[in-house]
Amino acid sequence: MSIPYIGRFAPSPTGPLHMGSLLAALASFLDARSQQGKWLIRIEDLDPPREQVGATDSILRSLEAHGLLHDGDICFQSQRHERYLEVLEQLLKLNAIFPCQCSRQELAANKGIHNGRCHSDKVELPSPGWAWRAATQAINLQFEDSLKGIQRQALAEEVGDFVLLRKDGLFAYQLAVVVDDIDFNISHIVRGEDLLSSTARQIYLYELLNCTPVKYSHLPLIMNSQGQKLSKQNHAPEIQSSLAPENIYFCLQLLGQKPLAELRGASCEELLQWGIENWNLKDIPASLPRPAS
Ligand SMILES: [Zn+2]
Repeated sequence: MSIPYIGRFAPSPTGPLHMGSLLAALASFLDARSQQGKWLIRIEDLDPPREQVGATDSILRSLEAHGLLHDGDICFQSQRHERYLEVLEQLLKLNAIFPCQCSRQELAANKGIHNGRCHSDKVELPSPGWAWRAATQAINLQFEDSLKGIQRQALAEEVGDFVLLRKDGLFAYQLAVVVDDIDFNISHIVRGEDLLSSTARQIYLYELLNCTPVKYSHLPLIMNSQGQKLSKQNHAPEIQSSLAPENIYFCLQLLGQKPLAELRGASCEELLQWGIENWNLKDIPASLPRPAS
């Protein structure tokens, strides 16, 4: 029996939806729906200082206006702290994590890479002022991305022991993502290639927790005319819901899906239906054209 397809879109509420995030939402939605899969939404609100008031509502409204309707309840990472702590305790029992107080300056001598347990003190989990890191091993982690092919990362050498609980008490992205994807039975992740370098760390956590990793597809990113990824930091404009069908058509084109010319002017529902019926992951180009400045 094959595992049921469950995909997800997981934005951080640091700003409104822009074209880059719509592209990722659309690709993960079409990949799920074309395989009769479920499509969930998770709000990655782990880092309150970086969040923008109203961004969650604005993102959800934009998705709905574009016809990207999700299954089930929305997961909010801010409501799952107890669960993240429980998994850290589980990892501590496995002796897979350790406390750390190394400063950025101390790590700079080793290019920011942390290698090896730096403390033998007895520290409670959690304790203010202590970060907790996953102890990495000198292994060459390999996985296959359905768009980028075989990927390898020498975890200890290239990444080092990575943070799961930050010194400031916030849970790290790498931990929360993996715990949520496991708990919600996510089977496929379609997301931007800026997260490709995080994937080996996430697979490593799946292995520590004795769970089967998901299938990954990392999408090319939309760049601005300066060659930077569209993001709130780069002032990517908010997507206009009044232009929702045009936005979907544009993203289908960027994703190499060649929507029919007569679909120009069609509704979001019609465009999405066409997208689901004609979806082919293999048509997604390796990179996207950069707009002229
Ligand atoms: Zn340390």
